[in-house]
Amino acid sequence: MALEFLYSQPVKIRFGCGSRHALGEVLSSLGAQRCLVVCDRFLRPAVEQMQHKIPAIAAIFSDVEENPQLIGVTASVGLIREHDVQAVVGIGGGSTMDTAKFAAAIASESDDPLPYFRGERHFPAVRLPMIAMPTTAGTGSEVTQVSVMSNGKEKKTINNPVFMPAVAIVDPELTLTVPPRTTMNTGLDAMAHALEGYWSRNHQPVSDLCAIEAVRLVLENLESAYRDGSNLAARENMSLAALLGGLSFALPKTAGSHACSYPLSEDYHLPHGEACAFTLDSFVRINADERLERLCRRVGLSGTEELAARIKALKQLGGLRMTLSDLGEVDLDQLARDAAAHPLMRNNPVEMDEAACRRMFAALQ
Ligand SMILES: [Zn+2]
Repeated sequence: MALEFLYSQPVKIRFGCGSRHALGEVLSSLGAQRCLVVCDRFLRPAVEQMQHKIPAIAAIFSDVEENPQLIGVTASVGLIREHDVQAVVGIGGGSTMDTAKFAAAIASESDDPLPYFRGERHFPAVRLPMIAMPTTAGTGSEVTQVSVMSNGKEKKTINNPVFMPAVAIVDPELTLTVPPRTTMNTGLDAMAHALEGYWSRNHQPVSDLCAIEAVRLVLENLESAYRDGSNLAARENMSLAALLGGLSFALPKTAGSHACSYPLSEDYHLPHGEACAFTLDSFVRINADERLERLCRRVGLSGTEELAARIKALKQLGGLRMTLSDLGEVDLDQLARDAAAHPLMRNNPVEMDEAACRRMFAALQ
């Protein structure tokens, strides 16, 4: 079959240690005299410090939770309107960037995110430019059009071009203080993005190259970043891995491990990265084929078995939950049903129905 694909990557990426200091310049380049910064409460003092140097920071919303709720979007839109800002900056992990994306997307039209979340209303054509500054190395949210939001217990991944950031400022120094466990969780999320983008049914050559390099960088640097958070070279390589991981799945989308992560997060409260890693080595074995063998050889591994073993070893090192008994009391039928029914499972190269998902989870005793 003749090769055919469409590649597009509209985010301007500014990568490098100290690049956070360019925020004022980036805001000016977007014509924004005032901006709202969305962050979590731990980052608030640092953002207040930034305000002295960057007076364009007109307002700060710092109540973003781990699984961000729509209420944070409503509050952010309130601040956008009150301070008449022209840009929104999300500084933090995926939760923060996703809240900032949603608020920037609807602020011109409404302060009620619910109809958009439910798909009852189209997103407005006019949106505020959004600047993404990740402080963890994993989600890749800085280069994707994805926003993961919750309304109470209902969690949704919304994929829409309105969420694409205008600029990503990736400063590895911002990740130096990330604790080891989060370093491991988010690093394995980056690995999952790369592998799933690579084996997704919609994979394509440009994304494939990003994926191969992201896998190599995670294999060579995650353990060092976990053991010594102050290792700037390892942090820099992990920030690059996360960015390339984001580019790997931005178009092809993720697959089986991310599909399984939803029930694992919602019902068993695993953080996103840990939830994706839970089945990642299983899917390496399930999806093993000539293409995946080729990736393994390109990153210096003997094959898919070694890749699965390396992922498992990283999980063990980080003390991540790996077996069903680690999850407490498990409703295996429900877990298999929810995983198989998730739309991302259709992206997995090997078909995984409920029985196949059940077999996979049952093997994780
Ligand atoms: Zn992810």
